[in-house]
Amino acid sequence: MKTTSRVVVIGGGVVGCSVLYHLTKLGWSDVMLIERSELTSGSTWHAAGGFHTLNGDTNMAALQGYTIKLYKELEEITGMSCGLHHVGGVTLADNQDRFDMLLAERAKHRYMGLETAIIGPDEIKKVAPVTNTDGILGALYDPLDGHLDPSGTTHAYARAARMGGAEIETHCKVLETNPRADGGWDVVTDKGTVIAEHVVNAAGLWAREVGAMAGVYLPLHPMEHQYIVTDEIPEIYQRDAEHPHVMDPAGESYLRQEGRGLCIGFYEQACKPWAVDGTPWGFGHELLPDNLDKIERSIEFAYRRFPVLETAGVKSVIHGPFTFAPDGNPLVGPVPGMRNYWSACGVMAGFSQGGGVGLMLAQWMTTGECERDVTAMDVARFGDWITPGYTLPKVIENYQTRFSVAYPNEELPAARPLRTTPMYDVFDNMGAVWGQQFGLEVVNYFTEGDEPRFETPSFRRSNAFEATAREVRAVREAVGINEVHNFGKYLVTGAGARAWLDRIMAGRIPKPGRLSLTPMLSPKGRLIGDFTVSCLSDAAFQLTASFGAQAVHMRWFESFETPDVRVENITDRLNGFQIAGPKAREVLLACTRDPLGDMKFMDLRHATVGMVDCLVQRVSYTGDLGYEIYCDPMAQRALWQVLWQAGQAKGMRPFGMRAMMSLRLDKFFGSWLNEFSPDYTAAETGMARFISFGKDCDFIGRAAAEAEREAGPERKLCAFEVEAEDADVAGYEPIWIEGRVEGFCTSGGYSHYAGKSIALGLIPAGRVADGLNVEIEILGKMRAARLLTTALFDADGSRMRG
Ligand SMILES: Cc1cc2nc3c(=O)[nH]c(=O)nc-3n(C[C@H](O)[C@H](O)[C@H](O)COP(=O)(O)OP(=O)(O)OC[C@H]3O[C@@H](n4cnc5c(N)ncnc54)[C@H](O)[C@@H]3O)c2cc1C
Repeated sequence: MKTTSRVVVIGGGVVGCSVLYHLTKLGWSDVMLIERSELTSGSTWHAAGGFHTLNGDTNMAALQGYTIKLYKELEEITGMSCGLHHVGGVTLADNQDRFDMLLAERAKHRYMGLETAIIGPDEIKKVAPVTNTDGILGALYDPLDGHLDPSGTTHAYARAARMGGAEIETHCKVLETNPRADGGWDVVTDKGTVIAEHVVNAAGLWAREVGAMAGVYLPLHPMEHQYIVTDEIPEIYQRDAEHPHVMDPAGESYLRQEGRGLCIGFYEQACKPWAVDGTPWGFGHELLPDNLDKIERSIEFAYRRFPVLETAGVKSVIHGPFTFAPDGNPLVGPVPGMRNYWSACGVMAGFSQGGGVGLMLAQWMTTGECERDVTAMDVARFGDWITPGYTLPKVIENYQTRFSVAYPNEELPAARPLRTTPMYDVFDNMGAVWGQQFGLEVVNYFTEGDEPRFETPSFRRSNAFEATAREVRAVREAVGINEVHNFGKYLVTGAGARAWLDRIMAGRIPKPGRLSLTPMLSPKGRLIGDFTVSCLSDAAFQLTASFGAQAVHMRWFESFETPDVRVENITDRLNGFQIAGPKAREVLLACTRDPLGDMKFMDLRHATVGMVDCLVQRVSYTGDLGYEIYCDPMAQRALWQVLWQAGQAKGMRPFGMRAMMSLRLDKFFGSWLNEFSPDYTAAETGMARFISFGKDCDFIGRAAAEAEREAGPERKLCAFEVEAEDADVAGYEPIWIEGRVEGFCTSGGYSHYAGKSIALGLIPAGRVADGLNVEIEILGKMRAARLLTTALFDADGSRMRG
């Protein structure tokens, strides 16, 4: 066995082998994989081997498409068979909401170039004849769906990796991973120690245990899962062609042909977590005892949907464990707080996602960034607040809702509330309807009277519509108040702080007492942050950015550590309120003796508000006259008392995130991970105006941004007024120009201020023209839309700046 290796991948399941192959594909050949038993000795060997592209996250769906297309390449490279059955598949919809979801998916696929189709009950009967279509409205047909041989495919990855120079050591158990002073790792095994520059944890069912060897908690949990293989069924083996897959979300089942019979698996409500206190090291090539009681109700449902099953005998039952993260997506990337320690685990659909996971991780390791936004599977999408006590109920919820409709406005209830601010009970008593961001309870809107304290999940306008309209009106006509808890906040201090920020941020770093907005770029010029920089003094700066990106941003900052700069995440040490609207200044002045009346737009001041020491910034994402007022969370209720009391005479109302997202649309402001994400550049999204090309330093991404400025972006973010009915744009709807799909929406919603449905989206730069008529496909209907270039509110900025 080698004693040194640039990379050691721990775990020889489908994911570890894919990572190993992709590292060699991208040119790293000094790499090895260590497997404690034979390859496939975790979840991989007993998988049903199904694959599909459907995923609520568009980037995940694209990576699933990559994975599926990769199998042919693997077969060609290695000469081995992956046992591919490209039989196609249908996902059924038995009610309008499920059908809406499929229509929305189909629309997304148009822009992604995936050839899916919506088909009706008659067509379903023809394509998948074992289906009883009673009560079925339609289905999404995907020709890419299929299944493969899990073991053959894993071995094909392994052979392809070996061909690229990788070594694989089986029957070798990793016992310890110890960090070295040089930033590398001692990987201690029962056959000796390997010195590695990088470690990849791809230990699947044992990822928790392997993580613990390095002091890392990875939020994943194994669940038991069962599928049944039937005896021969004449309706199946007498067919000329293989039967396609059928996903039946109502029955929480997936079905496919297996030999001369069928195979059907279930995501049952009565599900069971496995190995709650740790995966036994002795577990390997065995199955869990059958537990048909657990899936009794699901089987009864399946008999009605697929009547041939009722007479078919059971040939075998496969019951095994596999792992899930709290949101069901993989945990991939550099683990925050660690050097050269990478995660490739929590992959619950290894044969749909393994290729994409391997490609993204290998790109990240070899080039420092991925070609697309991988937030949905970034291991840093959870913060250090995450615990096993949170993960377990979320994983159970995820398993149970695997086949549920995923609504754009849905808030899932498990493991809540976990993190709350001092305002939680105050707002709860005021009728708050809560959402959750990065573990924190956030008000979505406030109810009145006997309005229900629950937002109906929907693809269409929900019952939050009226409440949101009230809150928007209060902001635009008087003054609104909400918390500033859901911003990520950082303190950058030290003699080198300004120079450091000048390098990390693409924009201008302000003078003391001023704020600036700046994009943060990757070396390839992609947007990796959208920051407000507050200059507290020449050696102290406060940054604010997306709340959910805290761990991602801190990981990035820490990779540029220098001795004369200190960067701290102070998100939880600073809270407060924003007040916004034409009366905001009057409210603020009524609460302080400090002379804040002359604060200009983008000014900041230290002031005493009521009894509380505060940092006041004149800026508001509502696009209105507004102030962000930050304080110590211990004094937040005292600050609330004074602002709320003074606000009563001015018509103050509290407002939530639904109103905030409507208000920003009035000014066409983008939002993080919708308009601004690593999928896009500053020039494409209008953020280039905040880049300081004139500054005298080589900020990260400068060369790429300059090249793009020279050539001009190929596509541009625009705003559209949509002739919508009861459903607004949510994201990724295709934009049709003269009968062709030429762009897609990034987000949208209803502007309650203007009474218009608004979409933001990217179209080819050459097409941009005020008043351009386009069509946007919302839930299967073409909606006329018109490109707008003038903001709906305060177009000249006089209110915001006045
Ligand atoms: C019943 C069932 C049906 C399924 N059906 C499908 C399906 O149809 N489609 C689909 O895409 N997915 C399916 N899955 C899920 C799929 O099996 C997993 O997504 C996939 O196997 C995960 O692979 P992995 O490489 O991450 O982990 P694993 O397969 O668990 O591999 C981890 C490997 O790491 C090794 N290892 C662990 N610790 C150490 C150590 N200390 N030293 C050395 N080696 C170590 C283990 O021996 C193991 O081989 C199914 C799962 C089950 C249980």
